[in-house]
Amino acid sequence: TTPTPDQPTERSAALLEQARAVTPGGVNSPVRAFRAVGGTPRFIRSATGPWLTDVDGNRYVDLVCSWGPMILGHTHPDVLAAVTDAAGRGFSFGTPSENEVALAGEIVARTPVEQVRLVSSGTEATMSALRLARGATGRSKVVKFAGCYHGHVDALLASAGSGVATFALPDSAGVPESSASETIVLPYNDLAALEAAFAEHGEQIACVITEACPGNMGVVPPVPGFEEGLRRVTREHGALLISDEVMTGFRCSPSGWFGAEASASIEADLFTFGKVMGGGFPAAAFGGSAELMSRLAPDGPVYQAGTLSGNPVATAAGLATLRGCTPEVYAHLDSVARTIADAASRELTTAGVPHTVQWAGSMFSVFFRDQPVRTYDDAKSQDTGAFSRFFTAMLQQGVHLPPSAFEAWFVSAAHDEAAVEQVLAALPAAARAAGNL
Ligand code: PMP
Repeated sequence: TTPTPDQPTERSAALLEQARAVTPGGVNSPVRAFRAVGGTPRFIRSATGPWLTDVDGNRYVDLVCSWGPMILGHTHPDVLAAVTDAAGRGFSFGTPSENEVALAGEIVARTPVEQVRLVSSGTEATMSALRLARGATGRSKVVKFAGCYHGHVDALLASAGSGVATFALPDSAGVPESSASETIVLPYNDLAALEAAFAEHGEQIACVITEACPGNMGVVPPVPGFEEGLRRVTREHGALLISDEVMTGFRCSPSGWFGAEASASIEADLFTFGKVMGGGFPAAAFGGSAELMSRLAPDGPVYQAGTLSGNPVATAAGLATLRGCTPEVYAHLDSVARTIADAASRELTTAGVPHTVQWAGSMFSVFFRDQPVRTYDDAKSQDTGAFSRFFTAMLQQGVHLPPSAFEAWFVSAAHDEAAVEQVLAALPAAARAAGNL
């Protein structure tokens, strides 16, 4: 059944009301509250393949895929079997276990890292990578790029406006000035700004952290030469380069943005992973050369730990998911993403709505502005009102997009013809809504 514009939302609305009483904003992660787009966030009861079913019985094609992890689709039979088997043997041991070794091996086999340490979230991965970079260099400053998101780590929440290198003020209340002042925020894709920051503070900079290909201001690929520049400048100044592949890892290619066709495949000193490698369960990782990773406890002086790190159920899910990510899966993701993005662009053009589609492998986003987006300021200049109207019209026709204009759209191996057809059928009316036609 295809939901109609008058789809019922009473139960979701009632749950949101209840949730608000016991949870701030009624949600456990802010973007889920639909504040940017308006309307009632849908409480999902179950999901299978490319479909979400909410508590009112509406069905949606899922283009969020849990913000990346569900690359094989929801409740994939192989992943479900692996999880069921693992859970039947115990939920958490607090000792080493076999799947951790296998998952680390799978990551090492696919990516440039020699060793990984498993953690439970992307935030933990970037936080730990930062500590390791600071511990290894004995320096304290960190360079990040405006518009890049690396989780809610104090030092990485800072994001300055446009312009040249600047010491950021805290972007979130609760981030002490002492922490924010160690972070230098630069415009993305601006090598001159990077060189200027290093000319001034080079000897104090422990690392540069960047999204391998930014996806958290919408998809903004590095311009030619930028990645090479990052590697050269950090090396010249003895700083480490951290490539955050939490979103792109194992999605843009079998390895990630590293290894993707459009990537310069730069070997960073540290990589962070998450999302796909947990298959929908809490698992993430950071890794690098064996020499650098040996600075971590118990071999080295940089402390890092976790009660649930390498959890046997989460690692079983991640391992089954990575093993399911075959070349055929990547080819399917590419083709489904292309079909949906091309159709969206066609309908928006027909409706006279200015837009640009940008890509990172099968990750893409539709910016509601007609010029290419190279920086966070560019991304912020889009027509977010047009996006909100587009989003709402898609939702009412049974397609669940990410509820923000600054996010990538995600597809899965389970997005079949029926799912794609439902998306294509919804696009013309949504494009007209975006254009206020
Ligand atoms: N880094 C990147 C690039 C991300 O996209 C995210 C999450 N969207 C994170 C880090 C943080 O991961 P988590 O939400 O698992 O803490």
